[in-house]
Amino acid sequence: MAESRTPDEVVARAARATDLADLDGAVSDCFACPRLVTWREEVARVKRAAFRDQEYWGRPVPGFGVPDARIAILGLAPAAHGGNRIGRIFTGDRSGDVLFAALHRAGLANQPTSVAADDGLVVRGTRIFAAVRCAPPDNKPTPAERDTCAPWLHREVALIRPTLRVVVALGAFAWAAWWPVLRAVYGVRPPSPRPAFGHGAHWSGTSAPALLGCYHVSQQNTFTGRLTPGMLDDVFARAKQLAGVD
Ligand code: SF4
Repeated sequence: MAESRTPDEVVARAARATDLADLDGAVSDCFACPRLVTWREEVARVKRAAFRDQEYWGRPVPGFGVPDARIAILGLAPAAHGGNRIGRIFTGDRSGDVLFAALHRAGLANQPTSVAADDGLVVRGTRIFAAVRCAPPDNKPTPAERDTCAPWLHREVALIRPTLRVVVALGAFAWAAWWPVLRAVYGVRPPSPRPAFGHGAHWSGTSAPALLGCYHVSQQNTFTGRLTPGMLDDVFARAKQLAGVD
């Protein structure tokens, strides 16, 4: 499988992806952002002490979930010692613990934890992905990195478009990353001015999925009580209702 090493190659390879398995493989073989490639590989080499005996994934992290998803969860980027270690999004870190506990309570995941690639986790009616597929330093991708990575997201949404009804944006970065999808995938002009991000914010277009805002499941939010389990439960109850998921 050809690697993607430039923004143009990302565009071309994403456009050729025929299904999610093909897309996931192509994402994993992306090297188009030099700063992020260096960072993800350095983190994988140096490791965190608690994981020093493990082999890190150290590559881009594809989406996870079913191809006929009615609900999508859009995050910012993989965590350096979570997704970048395991190779599965929101896996092996505190953010994933919080997210999958909520999805389990909502009946959208078969178990409340996400710790390893072979842990048996299965989601229902849901696809989870990030706006940027490589772990960035300080969790801050540059605008150029966000734009370079966007074709992967756009193609993934296009592939699940037939069933997708609701997108839950975790945080302001994901919320902002959604608007270009409208034009790229749905041929819809994004609203102007853009609706502001907020927890519980809701935007609905005519032919595109509804967009729900949710504070990110980062430790910064969950440890401080800014985002509580009850708040997450409310968001996923709303998402299920809008998506027509029992
Ligand atoms: S952030 Fe996206 S575009 Fe950049 S190297 Fe990673 S997968 Fe490729």
